[in-house]
Amino acid sequence: MLLPSLAEAAAGYDVVVIGGGLGGMTAAKRLVDAGHSVLLAERQARLGGYATWFRRGDHIFDVALHAFPAGMAKTLRKYWSRELGERVIPLTRIRFENPEFSFSTTFSSGDFKRVLKERFAVPEAGSEAFFQACRDYDFFRGAGESTGEFLERHFPGRLDVARVLLETVTYATGTNLDDPAMVYAVVFSNFIQKGTCSFLGGTDFLLAEMQRLLIASGVDVAVGSAAEKIILSDGRIRAVRIAGLPIRAKAVVSNANLKATCLELADLDALRPDFAAEIRAVPLSASVAQVYLGVRPGENVPRLADILFSSREASYDAEAFRAFPPRSISYSFYYPDHIRPGRPGAEIVASMCANYEDWDNLTPGEYRDRKKILIQSVLADLSRHIPGIAEKLDWREAATPKTLERFTGHWRGASFGSKFPGYLAAEKLPAEIGGLFHCGSQGILMSGWLGSANCGALAAGKAQAYLGGEYPNG
Ligand SMILES: Cc1cc2nc3c(=O)[nH]c(=O)nc-3n(C[C@H](O)[C@H](O)[C@H](O)COP(=O)(O)OP(=O)(O)OC[C@H]3O[C@@H](n4cnc5c(N)ncnc54)[C@H](O)[C@@H]3O)c2cc1C
Repeated sequence: MLLPSLAEAAAGYDVVVIGGGLGGMTAAKRLVDAGHSVLLAERQARLGGYATWFRRGDHIFDVALHAFPAGMAKTLRKYWSRELGERVIPLTRIRFENPEFSFSTTFSSGDFKRVLKERFAVPEAGSEAFFQACRDYDFFRGAGESTGEFLERHFPGRLDVARVLLETVTYATGTNLDDPAMVYAVVFSNFIQKGTCSFLGGTDFLLAEMQRLLIASGVDVAVGSAAEKIILSDGRIRAVRIAGLPIRAKAVVSNANLKATCLELADLDALRPDFAAEIRAVPLSASVAQVYLGVRPGENVPRLADILFSSREASYDAEAFRAFPPRSISYSFYYPDHIRPGRPGAEIVASMCANYEDWDNLTPGEYRDRKKILIQSVLADLSRHIPGIAEKLDWREAATPKTLERFTGHWRGASFGSKFPGYLAAEKLPAEIGGLFHCGSQGILMSGWLGSANCGALAAGKAQAYLGGEYPNG
């Protein structure tokens, strides 16, 4: 049920899931389907985490529904419902505009091969070998080879080709040439294998349906309920204090930020100082700033693309991609008949990698002024592609790394959680604290809509094994 207040919660549960992002929700669904009693506690008033939306006048803005791999259909079908899986729809117009190249692609491997051949003179066998290498990338080698080395191995001296192949992943996750090749290879090949997709009905439809299915399956859902402390004895989970109330639990799956889970909620410093130091050292992904633009109903927006990657940088430069004011921006277009057919107006969401420091320690006035500059820079850039766009808008608003941090509790507003060492650390967590599992936003790999949902299912499987006495420490 949807608990009217936490006082209605049962005295104890098999599992408390902390955080209702895509990972936490999927873990809760899997665990209840396996016959366990589950409380899902979300500190915000609504479920979703980064996968959220908001309404302004006639407009609905999706914060994180830009693109995900086609594999999301299988994940939704398997863990949620066939109907949700069938709502995964392809995005076929992905456009690049920058000083080095300008072209559109369907973002499938076949079309990418065409582009690489026609525009970059890369023989088909060369691009096929590269896609195959991405698909087969050896997990253990990944820790050693950098993305830059991997691209150089396949396309020596071709920084322009590296840009085509890497830029979208950088925009989405902040991944750069120094990050492990394995992470890049997995993320890129997930996207390119069967094309890039979105969700028919929008984030609001998805979340409403997920909440309905959770409650119908028997999960107790408590929104507006922040977990404050994970209570342990003898190195094992005993309870979680939520909004002042201790709720007994045999296991916890935390979907909260990995560092916050270990260092704030579980007090790992006192319990396992060495592991706490490892968690502290985990690097976080870059953050993101966004500008939400509402196009007045009745105004015409040219069908430029589903997603447009627009950059004014002369060549690939991950550092410069995070610069303020932004010079590299990705635009998602939500046309009236596409994601939410039948709605008036259109929405455009501009996203750009951002440095947390550029938004931290500002006075309220400085912060406001920066947001204005952000919106103006985006409009100036977008006007290069759609002249006169500013006059067609009836809403403009900005979000920053501080907004993301405040909303989800992710330290420094890390939009894809931790970098690769976070994945390795999260894997070790249950051996450090009996009954504590983490899901979502790990190591870039277990992040994004697909990765986080799958990570929730994996964590649920481990929690099940623990409850059944099959897990180390169990
Ligand atoms: C701007 C932006 C755009 C994105 N675009 C895309 C995209 O197009 N495609 C894609 O695949 N991915 C995208 N992502 C990434 C994707 O949205 C996330 O990786 C994914 O949604 C994270 O899911 P998660 O399971 O890690 O949970 P999160 O979304 O991180 O949610 C964690 C939840 O835990 C809650 N919580 C935290 N602490 C507590 C506590 N103490 N007690 C209770 N609750 C707590 C939070 O409030 C939150 O609801 C985007 C991310 C951002 C920021």
